[in-house]
Amino acid sequence: MRKKIVAGNWKMNLDYQEGVSLFSEIAHMVKDEVYGQQEVVVCSPYIHLYALAELSKGIDRISVGAENLYQEEAGAYTGEISAKQIKSTGASYVIVGHSERRAYFGETNEVLAQKIDVALKFQLKPIYCVGETKEERESEQYFEVIREQLQKGVFHLSAEAFAQVVLAYEPVWAIGTGLTASPEQAQEVHAYIRKCVAEKYDETLANDTTILYGGSCNPKNAPDLFSQADIDGGLIGGASLKSRDFTDIVKVFN
Ligand code: PEP
Repeated sequence: MRKKIVAGNWKMNLDYQEGVSLFSEIAHMVKDEVYGQQEVVVCSPYIHLYALAELSKGIDRISVGAENLYQEEAGAYTGEISAKQIKSTGASYVIVGHSERRAYFGETNEVLAQKIDVALKFQLKPIYCVGETKEERESEQYFEVIREQLQKGVFHLSAEAFAQVVLAYEPVWAIGTGLTASPEQAQEVHAYIRKCVAEKYDETLANDTTILYGGSCNPKNAPDLFSQADIDGGLIGGASLKSRDFTDIVKVFN
């Protein structure tokens, strides 16, 4: 059975104290209210990682992740952060290829492939994001775009390495816009992604791959989205900044 995961992406929000306080609230709620097999991942700015990883100790199902990493292992890259540095905080996940990184920082599929490799080298589990823009959806190019993002970003991996990767389908037009893909639209793409994985590797690995949906997911729409056959959880932006909303989304899998 593949893992169900609800991951939060705080983006560039919350100062240090606010982040610690929000995480403590989430951790308490998860401990008291969540009893399924689902895993909770909180991806935060780098400044929070160590403190959150310490707070997560002793709560089985919560892990911490970073929102990005640099593709080189070490060296003269002022202001960047390496996989090894992230790993040393106690974090275990890292988001790779979020559409905001692709759009605002020019991250290409080729650079993202390097980030995936270095993350895996240091035992960080990548959450690799794919998804089409509004124009690509309207011109019905979305399957091609997503296939290319998979082929260039993660399909160079061996089956063993790919098994460590979590995929996230995040239609760019649904991120932070309040527009959500309908459960049917999301399911169509998730099933397609799983088919691409089966063609590249095999059915077993495809069936074991966790594929998250992201894009204006909230406690109201999460039950319908998460009940789709190929949707294994969510990557949550805005709603992950409210402990009640985030935990309610996690509880869809109770
Ligand atoms: C995200 O940033 O990954 C995301 C899904 O954001 P939101 O939930 O706010 O649309």
